[in-house]
Amino acid sequence: METEIVYAEEENSSEAITKAVRLLSDGDVVALPTETVYGLGASALDEEAVAKVFEAKGRPSFDPLIIHLSTREQIHDYCDLSPGLNDVVQKLIQAFWPGPLTMVLPKKDIVPDIVTSGLATVAVRMSAHPVMQEVCKALGTPIAAPSANRFGRISPTSAGAVFKELDGKIPLIVDGGACNSGLESTIIRVEEGEGKALLHLLRAGPVVKEDLQEYGKVVRPKKLSERAMRAKEERAEGGGSPVVEAPGMLDSHYAPSIPLYFHDKPEDFTPEEGKRYALLSYRGQVRDGYMDLYDWDVVEELSPGKGKLAEASVRLFHLLRMLDESGVDAIVAEPVAETGLGVAINDRLRRASVNH
Ligand code: AMP
Ligand code: MG
Repeated sequence: METEIVYAEEENSSEAITKAVRLLSDGDVVALPTETVYGLGASALDEEAVAKVFEAKGRPSFDPLIIHLSTREQIHDYCDLSPGLNDVVQKLIQAFWPGPLTMVLPKKDIVPDIVTSGLATVAVRMSAHPVMQEVCKALGTPIAAPSANRFGRISPTSAGAVFKELDGKIPLIVDGGACNSGLESTIIRVEEGEGKALLHLLRAGPVVKEDLQEYGKVVRPKKLSERAMRAKEERAEGGGSPVVEAPGMLDSHYAPSIPLYFHDKPEDFTPEEGKRYALLSYRGQVRDGYMDLYDWDVVEELSPGKGKLAEASVRLFHLLRMLDESGVDAIVAEPVAETGLGVAINDRLRRASVNH
């Protein structure tokens, strides 16, 4: 299959949108820009189309998809909200939609099992990207869209990155420029709670804990040990009930093809003889001059300007991809500050690493 790339510039996106909508209505998949990362979309109500998303990505079927809505009101068509739950959800919608917040909520029957991996909940969001919004609106049904990368690999933040991941596997990529957030959406499961709502933080992302606290108690689900996770996956594969609450939380994810070592102090890293290493640095040229301590083959800074964590999140996946292709044997990455957006960045680096 030939993969076409069409451009969707701000003032001139109608041709791209028409092409995308035609393919989606015909039951095909299309890669689309969002403000977080590029998504690989299919009509969420078309089971065969959704199956193509799993196939193109090589994604296991126990890993459910997020559906993208075109209006805030659509939530009632796809989610079954009790009055109490609806109160909390509406406040979150007012505060964060359109934007990078995904909510996991009880689903209505209309949402096919293939989208939710058989779970009784569905993950919904409304993207702030004009192209994603327009395509959703014109299609008339929500778009199920996971990140447009092969399963487990680095999420794509540009059309070029999607092309590298899925060339030959999908018919169309809509190029809407570089993603301006650069990290996948925050995912919360919303529960009514007693007195105060409970917001279970399933994936850290651009909407940070501090933003959410006003709307409920933010709780982190207990992390499953890898063995427990594998047992659950096997059970799901063997036809048992799929029970993974947050499969995107699989330990190994967002990974380059070469090893990545996540190191508190790259200055203490012990290189192996004869190997070439790249350093992914957040601190940059700090006082102790640690970047010169070892003869790194390549050095990239997450925040060379003054943008700090916001800049780092936009650049993260782009740099990981560059370093992956730079010809070194391994990447050494250091953590960023563990506050705000930094929580999500460190989470991705940890999952990309071989020593998590
Ligand atoms: P991706 O689309 O690649 O960013 O991955 C979407 C992620 O959303 C999945 O890997 C899950 O972790 C999460 N997700 C989707 N649906 C649900 C659900 N019903 N319950 C919990 N997590 C979900
Ligand atoms: Mg993904």
